Amino acid sequence: MTYDLIVIGSGPGGYVAAIRAAQLGMKTALVEKYPTLGGTCLNVGCIPSKALLDSSEHFHNAAHAFKDHGIELKDLKVNLAQMVSRKETVVKQNVDGIQYLMKKNKIDVHQGVGSFVNKNTVKITTGEGQSSEIEGKYIIIATGSKPATLPFIKLDKERIITSTEALNLKDIPKHLVVIGGGVIGLELGSVFARLGSKISVVEYMDSLIPTMDKTMGKELQKSLKKLGFEFYLNHKVTAVENTGDKVALKAENKKGEELNLEGDYVLVSIGRVPYTEGLNAEAAGVKINERGQVEVNEKLQTSTPNIYAIGDVVKGAMLAHKAEDEGTFVAETIAGQKPHINYLLIPGVVYTWPEVASVGYTEEQLKEKGTAYKTGKFPFIASGRARASGDTDGLVKVLADQNTDEILGVHMIGPRTADMIAEAVVAMEYRASAEDISRMSHAHPTYTEAFKEACMAASENRAIHI
Ligand SMILES: Cc1cc2nc3c(=O)[nH]c(=O)nc-3n(C[C@H](O)[C@H](O)[C@H](O)COP(=O)(O)OP(=O)(O)OC[C@H]3O[C@@H](n4cnc5c(N)ncnc54)[C@H](O)[C@@H]3O)c2cc1C
Repeated sequence: MTYDLIVIGSGPGGYVAAIRAAQLGMKTALVEKYPTLGGTCLNVGCIPSKALLDSSEHFHNAAHAFKDHGIELKDLKVNLAQMVSRKETVVKQNVDGIQYLMKKNKIDVHQGVGSFVNKNTVKITTGEGQSSEIEGKYIIIATGSKPATLPFIKLDKERIITSTEALNLKDIPKHLVVIGGGVIGLELGSVFARLGSKISVVEYMDSLIPTMDKTMGKELQKSLKKLGFEFYLNHKVTAVENTGDKVALKAENKKGEELNLEGDYVLVSIGRVPYTEGLNAEAAGVKINERGQVEVNEKLQTSTPNIYAIGDVVKGAMLAHKAEDEGTFVAETIAGQKPHINYLLIPGVVYTWPEVASVGYTEEQLKEKGTAYKTGKFPFIASGRARASGDTDGLVKVLADQNTDEILGVHMIGPRTADMIAEAVVAMEYRASAEDISRMSHAHPTYTEAFKEACMAASENRAIHI
């Protein structure tokens, strides 16, 4: 079979690239080693984690918030098996949806591991060991990532687990120890904290979600402590051992003092690493760098010009929407268009409660760049909408250029900020000033008023409700 384009990997990068290429008239093939499409995001990432976050949030609210609203329940209990089964139904609906989209766009799906024979030929090997070859004028590598670990930790997937196993636990741990205070650890920690687990987070850095604006990590830590999280920041894990029905973890702080924790499970969530195993990239002359990423130029083209790479397997944020945007970018580039991605304006979100969402520069980055900036903040405690729903934790922080008032960064922690951040992205894409947003009508009462108020505070220190 000969194609205009072969895409290896069916995650949000790969399937979006395939659909966009088909829309642009290319004869396209998609190669996926697993029986279901959608990659990490749909099968063991974004979608299942959000399904469990939503279910556990319902339970937590029923147990802790409903009474205040005048709703009293008796004999409330968690049916974890049903919660996990619902999550699987949600995943199935999503992955089946991708299969449907492949048919609709007349994309050939080849199931099996794709490996390069040369720069135009991909061999597909099925689980049963049968192989076939397809030819492509262009090829996109979208093979994603896998969980990272530490050299001395053996991920046994029973007691010492990654996010993939955490999404399918059969029991609610009494004590879950989480290594890593980043997005995935805090989201999955939240799921089990809401269901009653004690959560201990051991983090090497001095703050949570350390790549985001420092205010966000501090505020999130306060909220998660209320949920029962314990934090051990500035701690380096030195040993993790499965002792049968428990796991023992040792760590030490900056002073060399030892910390010993014993949990039912240890969730290793210290990040993810690019995945290129079995790809045989050398056969096509595709360079992999020392970090394991496929090396690409600004057009996402590899060292072999007809081969491109996108998503988690290349540099940049490991986010589904970044992978999707790159998929579209490469398909359009191959079709001769001149697309553009503004990497500064790819938002980052943490789906804890309160949610954290961020776009543009952090305050720390502006300081480092020497940019003169002004700050406007608005706390949700002062928002009528947040008081009505009872979600008053958090704030919106807007960073604007001291001289031009252009918005340079927006950092939000609070209710539904994952959705609210879209307004900040639009504003920044159109290079809005803080005053522009201050003068636009925001429906009352909505959480979005907090963004408007923070812009008013940044632009002229004239927030109304604080
Ligand atoms: C628990 C968790 C929660 C997350 N939540 C979010 C979130 O809320 N929002 C967000 O933006 N991101 C989230 N992410 C990150 C997101 O899942 C990734 O950024 C995204 O999936 C990357 O997409 P991708 O297309 O690059 O790769 P992937 O989704 O990893 O897909 C790669 C695909 O390639 C296939 N493959 C690999 N090698 C081969 C080969 N040789 N032949 C054939 N097939 C191959 C793999 O089987 C896989 O299906 C989360 C991740 C995890 C683990």
